[in-house]
Amino acid sequence: MDFGLAYTEEQQAFRREVQEWISENVPDDMREPVDPRDFSEKQWQFWHAKHQEMAEKGWLFPTYPKQYGGGGLSGDHETILSEEFRNNNIPWSGSSLLFATLLVWGTEEQKQKFLVPLLNGTKIAWQKLTEPKGGADLANYQSRAVRDGDDWLLTGQNVYISGQPRPGWEPAGPDFIYGPMLTDPDAPRHRNLGYFIIPVPSEGLDIKEMNLLPGHDQHAIFMDNVRVGSDHLIGGETQGWQVMGAHLEQEHGGRGRATPSPRDLFASQMVDYARDTEVDGSSLGSDPVLQQVAMQATLDSYRDELLNKRTYWMYQSRMELSYEGNLGDVHNREHQLRNTIRVRDVMGMYALLDGNDPRAPQGGAQEVSQRDKAGQRHAGGSTNIAKVILSRKIGVSRTQMRSAPTPATATDYGS
Ligand SMILES: Cc1cc2nc3c(=O)[nH]c(=O)nc-3n(C[C@H](O)[C@H](O)[C@H](O)COP(=O)(O)OP(=O)(O)OC[C@H]3O[C@@H](n4cnc5c(N)ncnc54)[C@H](O)[C@@H]3O)c2cc1C
Repeated sequence: MDFGLAYTEEQQAFRREVQEWISENVPDDMREPVDPRDFSEKQWQFWHAKHQEMAEKGWLFPTYPKQYGGGGLSGDHETILSEEFRNNNIPWSGSSLLFATLLVWGTEEQKQKFLVPLLNGTKIAWQKLTEPKGGADLANYQSRAVRDGDDWLLTGQNVYISGQPRPGWEPAGPDFIYGPMLTDPDAPRHRNLGYFIIPVPSEGLDIKEMNLLPGHDQHAIFMDNVRVGSDHLIGGETQGWQVMGAHLEQEHGGRGRATPSPRDLFASQMVDYARDTEVDGSSLGSDPVLQQVAMQATLDSYRDELLNKRTYWMYQSRMELSYEGNLGDVHNREHQLRNTIRVRDVMGMYALLDGNDPRAPQGGAQEVSQRDKAGQRHAGGSTNIAKVILSRKIGVSRTQMRSAPTPATATDYGS
């Protein structure tokens, strides 16, 4: 049975155009390395310039409005672009969380000032949410914004903030960091935050690299009385929780995905490995137990693709979404972990050999994935939080007003 999508003549012509552009514009040594830790300054410089060229063609952020520097293209175009870019290891981001915030909450001036340079690829932004004392509990945000005349003074700390380039690389970056700040410590939770875009560099702002298990793309941020103008506040000064919703809805799966990301492909690589590896004269994949493991991994990946594609299709069709994105988010995190374990079942300790070892399968890709998946349980707000949000959306969570049933409330003892 063929589960593939059918593409029209016009779409296939667009795919050929993208393929041609890649073969003419992207030298092999500029493609994404197997291990993200090997991404070099030279590659950063190449892609920083190339992304601007892609934006001019409408390919960098294809589905965002043309009037603000986006591509004005359809979800079908984005699907084809993302498939081709993924298959050719092109570093690319089809969306950014800040775009949603600016489109929903930004004034026209703010869209011109921030959204246009982000969409045309000249500037980049990192999201700053997590604080050292706890990232999951965003309603308990501690970093402070204090009014000073027409300006705001920002003081606080963040950790695990993801993004490139590495400190010291040229061209330097990011150009902005964005997220909530506590504007009114006396107001109740959810009504005490503002949402700010902070220019980088700024006096009093320091960014330090963190070297974590997945690599060195995370950073610690220190703000000591960083001054920003009032036009850097998005929404009202205590509306930050609501503004952040537009951004978090996307982070928690609300835009879906046109096509599986490269980090979801490691399970299909494991199936290739089982088929192509010979042990004692027969293919590893002929072992019925390993066959079953590989089949479970394939089905899990396929279900994940469908869940996230459905959300993507609903989003692009401007349909009202409820739990769909969160379901895809929870499934994506959980299936990645399940498949990481299955990879170890099939490859054994070979899955843990890095690219320096000639025996490492697929140039060390599985070892990268084993490290990456551990971190992905926490990236984007932790799997536990994703489950809490999903259960609220489908109406099975308890509210703060109601305790869990106990024998006293749920059992008829008789008299
Ligand atoms: C690879 C990676 C990239 C990241 N990128 C960014 C980034 O770009 N920007 C950014 O701001 N942050 C980023 N983070 C941080 C990430 O968002 C946080 O790790 C996450 O929000 C959890 O916060 P925490 O680590 O402080 O854990 P805590 O909030 O201290 O939570 C500890 C544990 O308790 C659980 N827990 C907490 N509250 C509840 C609850 N109410 N119900 C059930 N369980 C709960 C959590 O699930 C977790 O297992 C990144 C993290 C990683 C690993």
